[in-house]
Amino acid sequence: MAKRDYYEVLEVTKTATSEEIKKAYRKKALKYHPDKNPGDKEAEEKFKEAAEAYEILSNDNKRARYDQYGHAGVGSGNGGFGGGGFGGMNMEDIFSQFGDIFGGHFGGGFGGFGGGGSHQQVRGSNLRVRIRLNLEEMVNGTQKTIRVKKMKLASGATSKTCPTCHGSGVHVKIMNTMFGQMQTQTTCPTCQGVGKVADKIPAGANAQGLIKEEEEITINIPAGARDGIQLNVRGKGNDAPFGGTPGDLLVVVEEEESKTIKREGDNLHQELYISFAEAALGAKKEVPTVGGKVKITIEPGTQSGKILRLSGKGLPSIDSYGKGDMFIHINVWTPQKLTPKQKSFFEQQMASGEMKAEPSGKEKTFFDRVKDLFN
Ligand SMILES: [Zn+2]
Repeated sequence: MAKRDYYEVLEVTKTATSEEIKKAYRKKALKYHPDKNPGDKEAEEKFKEAAEAYEILSNDNKRARYDQYGHAGVGSGNGGFGGGGFGGMNMEDIFSQFGDIFGGHFGGGFGGFGGGGSHQQVRGSNLRVRIRLNLEEMVNGTQKTIRVKKMKLASGATSKTCPTCHGSGVHVKIMNTMFGQMQTQTTCPTCQGVGKVADKIPAGANAQGLIKEEEEITINIPAGARDGIQLNVRGKGNDAPFGGTPGDLLVVVEEEESKTIKREGDNLHQELYISFAEAALGAKKEVPTVGGKVKITIEPGTQSGKILRLSGKGLPSIDSYGKGDMFIHINVWTPQKLTPKQKSFFEQQMASGEMKAEPSGKEKTFFDRVKDLFN
């Protein structure tokens, strides 16, 4: 399903104030609230969609990124990152995050969500790792296998019904006060709401039957990744105790700086050294780009400082179908050690006065070249 524009989802204009956005979200949330639409999957999806839109548009930073880059800018786009951002958001997350917006309208009763059982579903915690990718891997996509230390349910760990809450996961306390009897409900302190406690725990595991283990996880990085973008690998985070859902593995992409290729937005720059002879006579050269090696022609009489532009050999644009360019900065290499033969050749040239710098005045200055880059 194509992701809808967040402004469209909330039916607000692009210039809507934060108050208008909040109001619009509240309206949608109340309309599609699961308590009002029991069992209606479509309403649930709409509810989640609105929550996602609100999460982004209510945050100035995220909103600015979204305005500039679209869904990709906030890690929720379709361009291979469908699983990112809110992919892992469940109803409980939404309620805990946006509870304030409902203002107690629903009397605190969001029952029915969180597993459907008598006790709340317990989810393992998310794990966050960083992964370093070079430009080529980010552009073309890649597969990486990493080793992650995570909490896993130890083999041989068994559980039994919690003796405190008898499996309900909640602790009901009745207090006699001067106003009469008061009943409070809290998460069971013995099992933390799981409803189960450990029965047999193998050596090395904690009270929840979890043990820290290393796991090899293969991550598919889709083409078009960018520095700072986050991928969400569902279910690869920490295990939950006794039968809950594992958390997610959040993979943050970091750009590995290249020694040879420098990035500037979607454009790439690299330096190319050529010899005196190549500058004078012209030459064919090969330069690396993110899409593989490309052949370029050095014209006879090429000056040091010339910049060649390889159109479309930069990075794919994050918010359009366009591509940046690759700029090759040519440097003519002056030999630092001459053989006796070379020395005598240059001495002859100098004595004859035939080889000298004679700019015609039409050469581009450094400033012209910089100006050209922006045209
Ligand atoms: Zn319990």
